[in-house]
Amino acid sequence: MHRADSAAARALEQGFPWLRFEPALEREYRDTSADAVRPRARIAMLLALCTVLGFSILDHRLLGAPWRLPDDLVRFGVELPLVLLATWLIGSRHYKRFYLTALHFGAPLFGVAAAFTAATAGDPAFVALGTARLVLATFFVYFMLGLPFFAALRTNAFLVAAFAVAAWWMAMPSTMALYNVFILLCANLFAGAGSYALEHAMRLAFLERRMLAEVASHDGLTGLLNRAAFDTQVARVWDQAARDQQSVAVVMLDIDHFKSFNDRYGHQAGDQALRDVAAAVARTARRPLDLVARFGGEELIAILPGADRRHAETVAKALVEAVSGLGIPHAGSPGAGHVTVSVGVAAVDATRESSYESAIRLADRALYLAKDQGRNRWVVLDRSLQVHDFAPPLRVA
Ligand code: GH3
Ligand code: MG
Ligand code: MG
Repeated sequence: MHRADSAAARALEQGFPWLRFEPALEREYRDTSADAVRPRARIAMLLALCTVLGFSILDHRLLGAPWRLPDDLVRFGVELPLVLLATWLIGSRHYKRFYLTALHFGAPLFGVAAAFTAATAGDPAFVALGTARLVLATFFVYFMLGLPFFAALRTNAFLVAAFAVAAWWMAMPSTMALYNVFILLCANLFAGAGSYALEHAMRLAFLERRMLAEVASHDGLTGLLNRAAFDTQVARVWDQAARDQQSVAVVMLDIDHFKSFNDRYGHQAGDQALRDVAAAVARTARRPLDLVARFGGEELIAILPGADRRHAETVAKALVEAVSGLGIPHAGSPGAGHVTVSVGVAAVDATRESSYESAIRLADRALYLAKDQGRNRWVVLDRSLQVHDFAPPLRVA
């Protein structure tokens, strides 16, 4: 089973109160969530642009607020450039790499600037209006930007702290300062609780989707990829190998005399033997890009990208030995006395093959030869051999 998949199962079982998964799974979650957040972030920036400009117009026109240089400096010197920078990032190809990083610095800066403007308004009525704007900013940071909960919490903590420091610096009456800080803390409590619950639910949905995909793509008995998933993935693996001009080995494996094993020991024992064989195969073909699947019945298949002929032979030999080494008694197996497998390998060049299907057909032919020559052995065929067609295969163990 895939390493990250068991991490997903563990996260589901043990919970994730700190909104964090194991590193590989966390990376995958962030990648998925970055895609999901992107359209939302675009809208968020449009709204931010409207509100920055809108409040500027309101302040100047409606309130008739005395013209204050610091307000406009903050608005047009800090807030607007930050919003424009974020808007550009969201649309650019650097989005995934830099958007969140930029927010980690930009959002607190934005918050501190907004808090500073509010706390330095002087007139208590304007301070109150400023605080109302900060409440909006708090919700914006928790829900609109696509920041993870803890990053949003940190951003808003900066905002409250900046407000408190600016209030102290402006010698704001303590009752007013306390009242406004209390409003901001309450806003954090409500929006923070909502934001935590939202991220928790999104992470849960991610894990469940992943587990569902995992169940749908794996065979229930052996835990290997099922045929449908193999068919989907093999084309991708093959295309990649062809692009990289790699050699590829296709390994077909079939349990010997398995029908008589079932007849003799029962179907349940057969299932267990199949499970053990599958586990031995998965242990043997374990390079990161190796694709191992249950091809059908008691037949397994492995695609080994980058495996040249020598590596293919080594794996084939290791597979035969690994299954033999399990020592599962099989009195109906002539000669061996235990469960054995036959292995057919096609060692080909991905670029020269017309399709992966033709390589699978070659591996199937190699398997047929292995069976024909007495089972419990391996046969490797490559295209040069095919010229001589059924000439004695190379190295039959
Ligand atoms: P050979 O050495 O030529 O491969 O002989 P064989 O008996 O293994 O070949 P055959 O294809 O005739 O039989 C395959 C058997 O595998 C038939 C079926 O009962 C058994 N089989 C296939 N899938 C399963 C399974 O999921 N569980 C069990 N217990 N048996 C299975
Ligand atoms: Mg068989
Ligand atoms: Mg078979």
